[in-house]
Order: sequence, then structure tokens, then C-alpha cells
Amino acid sequence: MDIMDNALFTNITLHSLEDGYPVLYPPPLIWSNVSKDEIIKSWKNVARNLKRDPRLNKICLYIHIPFCQTKCVYCNCVSFPLSSFSQLDTYLGALKKEIDSFHSLFRGIKFSSLYIGGGTPTVLRNQQIADLIQYIKGKFCFEDYFLFAIDAHPNSLDSGKLRLLKDLGLKRLTIGVETLDKKVLVKMARKQTRDSVYRAFTQAREIGIPYLNIDLMAGLPGQTIQSFVKSLLMVVKLHPDIIHVNPFLPDKNTLFSRKNFKFTQRDIRRRKMMVDIKRNILEKFSGYKSIGRAGSALSKEAINPQINLFESPDFKVSILGLGYGAISYAFANRCYRLSTGINNYFKSAQLYNGYKMNRDEESRYYIIKFLYQGINKRKFFKLFGVDFNPAFKKEISFLKRNLNCLDSSLIFRPNFKDKKQYFILSKIFYSKKVMNIFKSKYSVAKSRINDIEHQDLDAYIEEE
Ligand code: SF4
Repeated sequence: MDIMDNALFTNITLHSLEDGYPVLYPPPLIWSNVSKDEIIKSWKNVARNLKRDPRLNKICLYIHIPFCQTKCVYCNCVSFPLSSFSQLDTYLGALKKEIDSFHSLFRGIKFSSLYIGGGTPTVLRNQQIADLIQYIKGKFCFEDYFLFAIDAHPNSLDSGKLRLLKDLGLKRLTIGVETLDKKVLVKMARKQTRDSVYRAFTQAREIGIPYLNIDLMAGLPGQTIQSFVKSLLMVVKLHPDIIHVNPFLPDKNTLFSRKNFKFTQRDIRRRKMMVDIKRNILEKFSGYKSIGRAGSALSKEAINPQINLFESPDFKVSILGLGYGAISYAFANRCYRLSTGINNYFKSAQLYNGYKMNRDEESRYYIIKFLYQGINKRKFFKLFGVDFNPAFKKEISFLKRNLNCLDSSLIFRPNFKDKKQYFILSKIFYSKKVMNIFKSKYSVAKSRINDIEHQDLDAYIEEE
């Protein structure tokens, strides 16, 4: 592969934006059908590694609840507006069947965390939440101080539900706030008030949930710089442990794009300004520290591996994802997700889409994930048995020619100008095989990509 091939960088980056997962490797565009038998085989390998060396290997359980009270216009998550509470009962029944078909593979293995995301998992009624957690704990084992985390919409929280979650062992609650601007909320069909945000957050604090995070968005349609800053400052006053500011991505999964709304060059510039301003407000003036991707943390404890295991470079972390829309990473083996429609999920007809990783690709996945914070060469060797510098000579010399890089005996860290540059340049670590499949599939995908994003990135690459 010619790593100076700018067009290729453009293609990869466009694809990443389309997915909304800038550092997901290998990119889902190149995934293909995979049978359940193959998936089970991969998990058996992971289970063997977990038993053989629990100091290097960890596993997390992710449960996806793909329902929300309403569907927000900007949202690219796998989620559907809830039609009735009985729909949740049907879904939980199908989820339990999926749990039943996997749990026996993990006998004798302790999971490090349980993360319930969505959608809005807290649309579940209290009884449903208690029943689900009890069912999960009856089927899987967890480490003594495992992390239990859940995502929530402020309107779906009240003191009763928060107390129940605390009693069930919740350690981290992430409240999706996105914006506090009334006009933007109406435009984005998001039902929420400032009062519901404050109430949910203060109740969660009073009840004693240990870590409280808030998610915001930058660049939402109709959002001005002023309104973004106002929302951010209001959220900072609450002192959440971590604030994520996610840039709005008008990808094909959003109602925004399906309704053919346009995201203009001006919108892109405004979004970038918001991200820059956020960095100043949080990291220069409010005591937060960047923790990679879109997050900033107030304290060291909030990002310790116990609390944020998946972001820890110390282990190979596999994720068993269950529920419609969940993505799984069977480390060193396979990434995959269900490819059936939700109605087939209810009928337990499970088809999967995924990619089988070899050991080399596993290490590339790790590099792409942690390059922004720097690759610890000793850890890398411990995890993969490979010397980082000789193995990635070509990629390292490309980065050194184009960026200032710290390359000591312990660390390799390129000094990326911003996250966008990291998203683009980290992709030189794509394997030849992934790159080739990607190129062959790209022309089909291209037609689905937002033109404006395309132009923006072309311009960016030219500047580089
Ligand atoms: S942003 Fe949150 S509440 Fe809105 S549709 Fe997406 S997952 Fe649901």
C-alpha cells in the first residue's frame, strides 16, 4: 500500500465518518456474513485466553436496549421509538434467549464490567430493570468490584429508579443531555427540559451513584456557538465526573439525513469551532483533562481502569455484546454484530455480520485505538509479543515525516493537531488485507456518503 495515497486516506476517512465510529477497526463496511458456529468458536478461543492469562485479558458485557421514548432527529444509534411497554417485555424475552445461548461459553470466567446502553435503557420500568439485572447476574459471573454502568435520558429517571439502580450496584450513570437549548431541542424532536436534567442529576448525586457523566453534542442543526457555550457552562456547573462532547455526524442512520436535510460547509466549520471552544472551556478553565475521543474527566478516579476499562491500554479487552444493535469484539478473533432486522430478533433468528481478525490485525486495532494517547512499547510487547518499532517501521517513518512525534524507548506518540487529524492518519495502520477489501467496496459506499463531508475532507487532505 502506498501510505502517501491521499485519495485513499480520503476514502477511509469518509467511510469512518459515515459509520460514526471514527476508530472502529476493521471498518464495518468490509464485514461480511458470519455463522453463529464461527462466533461460538471465536468466543471459545477468547475464553481459553481469559483463563490462561487473566492479567492480560479482560472481558466486558454490553447489553443493548434499542428503544427510546421518541427518536431524536440527529441520532445515529440503533434505536426505535417505543410503541408500548409490552414491546419491552417481548424484547427482554428475546434478549434472555440470546443470553441463554451464550452464557455457558463463559463458565468459570469473571466479567469486569456490565454496561447497558441504547437507545435509552432507562425506558425500562423498575421491575424490568431489576428482573434483567438479576437474570444477567444469574447467568454470568462478575469480578468483585465490577463496573456496572448505564446510559439514561433525563426524562426517564426519577428518584425511585435511581435508588433501585444504586441498590443494584450502579457505579456509573451517563445522562444524555446533548443540549439545553429549547429551540434546538424542539427542532431535533428531543423531549427534555432543563428542569428534568437538573432534577435527574441532583437526585443521582444525592442518592450516591458514584460516577456521573454527561453527554453533550456539538454542531447540532440549529445550534449556535452561543447556545453551545451556554449549555456547556450550565453542565460544567454541575461538576459531572466526565463530560463527552460528541460532534454531530449527519450519517445515513440519522433521520436528519433520511429526510434529506443538508449539512453545509458553514455547519461543518461551526461544529469545529464548538469542539475547539469546548477544549478551552473544559481543559483550560474548568479543571477537566482530555481522556481521548470526545471525553474530558474531572478526576483521575473517573478514568481508572476499574471505571473505564474499555479505554485502558493495559489489557486486551473483549466485549460480549448482546441485544439488537450490540457490537461484539472477541479479542484476537472476531468483531461482529447481528444483521437481522428487529422483528427477526424477536423470533430469535440470529444472523451475524462480522470480520475475523488475525493476530496482526488485532495489534493494529489496538494501535489505532490508542495512538492518540501514545503507544507504550513495553505494554505492546507484553500484549502482542511484537516489537513496535521494527514491526511498524513504514508507518512510523510516515508519521515522523509529517508530524512531531515522541519516539522514546518506552513511548511512541505522534503530536496530532486535533482528533480529526488523528482519525485520518491513524488509518495508515490498516492492514493490507483490510485496505484491499475496503478499496473494492468503497465505490458502492461512496454513493451513500454526504457530499459536503466529502468536500470538507478533500480540502483537509489537500492542506495536509
Ligand atoms: S439521542 Fe438518545 S434518546 Fe435520542 S434517539 Fe438517540 S438514543 Fe434515543
